[in-house]
Amino acid sequence: MLTGKTALVTGSTSGIGLGMAITLAKAGANVMLNGFGDAEAAKAEVQAAARGGRVGYHGADMSRADQIEAMVRACEAEFGALDVLVNNAGIQHVAPVEEFPVERWDAIIAINLSSVFHASRAALPGMKQRGWGRIINVASVHGLVASAQKSAYVAAKHGVVGFTKSVALECATTGVTVNAICPGWVLTPLVQKQVDARAAAGGISEPEARKALLGEKQPSLQFTTPEQLGELALFLCSPAGDNIRGVAWNVDGGWVAQ
Ligand code: NAD
Repeated sequence: MLTGKTALVTGSTSGIGLGMAITLAKAGANVMLNGFGDAEAAKAEVQAAARGGRVGYHGADMSRADQIEAMVRACEAEFGALDVLVNNAGIQHVAPVEEFPVERWDAIIAINLSSVFHASRAALPGMKQRGWGRIINVASVHGLVASAQKSAYVAAKHGVVGFTKSVALECATTGVTVNAICPGWVLTPLVQKQVDARAAAGGISEPEARKALLGEKQPSLQFTTPEQLGELALFLCSPAGDNIRGVAWNVDGGWVAQ
């Protein structure tokens, strides 16, 4: 379905971004990866899943506007275009607001929110010129509702949902759609840290901590998988998604239905 198209997935060396990159590569797209950690391993995994497309990597730090712009330009230069931008990179920090480290607040706003602006503004002119594009922002249920001790994350993700709606309106008469996906719990390294902290604090086992985490918020009592989110991204890229604009689509086992 995406043969001949190019996707850039930010924060795709791990977790949700890696799962989405694999799904897009399976659909035939060229994929440019980004993120910290073992880039070669991620590249090999996505290349193994690819159906005809090429796989590249750019190590832009998503807290740096200049590096984000350079990554978009590098993607266009290497693959000839950037058709699908998945703004996924993100970090978390959990603490009460009066104890929240200022440096962590700034990093979360930069990586989880401002990077979405910087990548989108760099990618949009090319998409509009070619008359087709998809911007898919990985927000969170925390873009729709809040949890305590996550003030920076909740503020950033609500910001992403608002940004998504605004840019979707700006693109409404073009072939470029802009939408957000709002996952509940997905068992990635970002969430594993929270499971481990809960196990340590409560003196409980890791499986018990997982169960408690799900039981508190996610009625299905099951984690969503990166592959399921990849399939939703693929649907938004299909012709059926041509007129889906400015939505914030939760995939959360019923979390925000409560
Ligand atoms: P993860 O920690 O597994 O992956 C995060 C990715 O972002 C990694 O590839 C990491 O290298 C990259 N990254 C972090 N800081 C970066 C920076 N400064 N520059 C470039 N890359 C950077 O986390 P995940 O759970 O897969 O999260 C991915 C996205 O999904 C995030 O935006 C997160 O907020 C969102 N999300 C996750 C969940 C969940 O339950 N896991 C739920 C809702 C939303």
